[in-house]
Amino acid sequence: MADLLRLSDTLASVDSVLDWRFEGFMVEGAEGLEPRLRLHVEGSLDLRCQRCLGGFVWPLRVDTLLQPVRSGQAIPEGELENDEVDAIEIDGELDVLALLEDEILLALPIAPRHQVCEAPRPEGGSSKESPFAALASLRGSPSAE
Ligand SMILES: [Zn+2]
Repeated sequence: MADLLRLSDTLASVDSVLDWRFEGFMVEGAEGLEPRLRLHVEGSLDLRCQRCLGGFVWPLRVDTLLQPVRSGQAIPEGELENDEVDAIEIDGELDVLALLEDEILLALPIAPRHQVCEAPRPEGGSSKESPFAALASLRGSPSAE
């Protein structure tokens, strides 16, 4: 994960290692053979909880089918009706690591957080909402403070 810089803000640790596979193949399309790319990613990310800033393990699984299209070329009509394949514009070389990063960013939860935060209340009190207050509001009971 240390190689995926755009993801570092969302992670509590970049020590995790992902298994990923990227393959290209041809399929029979409406106008003859068409290229496809499949990206498969699997692993566990150490995400940072937005509530308590602690880390938690989040299982990642991405399996995306892409149809490469030259820059400027119209997106094939079949693609617009097909939910299973996304068009991807490629101009010359493809930055596989950037694509990997894009797909992982799309798969991440919008607001990563523990279901229940177990972080201790900061010592000396804090103006920030404590995890306990958050818990209390979740239960619908009035806060003790
Ligand atoms: Zn938390």
